[in-house]
Amino acid sequence: MTRHTEVAPKPVTTGTEITRTDCKQCGTEVHGIDGRYSCPLCGWVNHWSEGHNELPAEVDSSGPTTG
Ligand SMILES: [Zn+2]
Repeated sequence: MTRHTEVAPKPVTTGTEITRTDCKQCGTEVHGIDGRYSCPLCGWVNHWSEGHNELPAEVDSSGPTTG
């Protein structure tokens, strides 16, 4: 009996990417995800708009429709 060589399963791509940049405040190399950074030393956090992905639109929960 011959068995086929099983291929290792591909890693699940979640669409997130580890990125890095220099802290705009203290210059420390900061790692983040999809362009979002938070400096562990000085607490600097870049603006969300600098991220690669857009934030999900705020869902406006509509109340019960009457009439
Ligand atoms: Zn910093």
